Amino acid sequence: MIAFIGIGANLGDAQANVLDAIARLKALPGATLLGSSSLYRTAPIDSSGDDYVNAVASIDTTLAPQALLEALQEIELAHGRERPHRNAPRTLDLDLLLYGDETIATGTLSVPHPRMHERAFVLAPLLEIAPSVAIPGRGPAAGFVPQVADQFITRIA
Ligand code: AMP
Repeated sequence: MIAFIGIGANLGDAQANVLDAIARLKALPGATLLGSSSLYRTAPIDSSGDDYVNAVASIDTTLAPQALLEALQEIELAHGRERPHRNAPRTLDLDLLLYGDETIATGTLSVPHPRMHERAFVLAPLLEIAPSVAIPGRGPAAGFVPQVADQFITRIA
């Protein structure tokens, strides 16, 4: 299954954390890294602290969605992420954006990620590596770009 992972960090050396997350996805058993976007700098949305560094990676994986989510959470934990409150600044945040064309709604997992189409920090890197990708139930991701045009985002590397 082809899956897309959203990566974000805004604590510590955020750029290094995002690059390390991509390296860990590359090394993940049961997954092959297909591609990763440039890094982007974005202003926090529904969050506090410094600007974020964001990227999106695509993998080809044999992991089931829940197993993949748990693998992503292990990578977050390896970065010592603490959750003092909702939307607190974070050393590393990994979101399962898309899992093939599947729609998943369980107690722990919502795929497509329910807010991905509202966020420039997801759409810009996603469209960089998958320009024609569609969001199941919503349509082409590119169609949502005009709605996020007011969100600050700049490509950094
Ligand atoms: P966050 O604080 O944004 O990292 O949210 C983490 C929580 O969101 C976890 O407890 C997950 O079970 C839940 N969650 C639901 N859907 C997703 C998704 N598509 N990707 C990552 N986490 C998800």
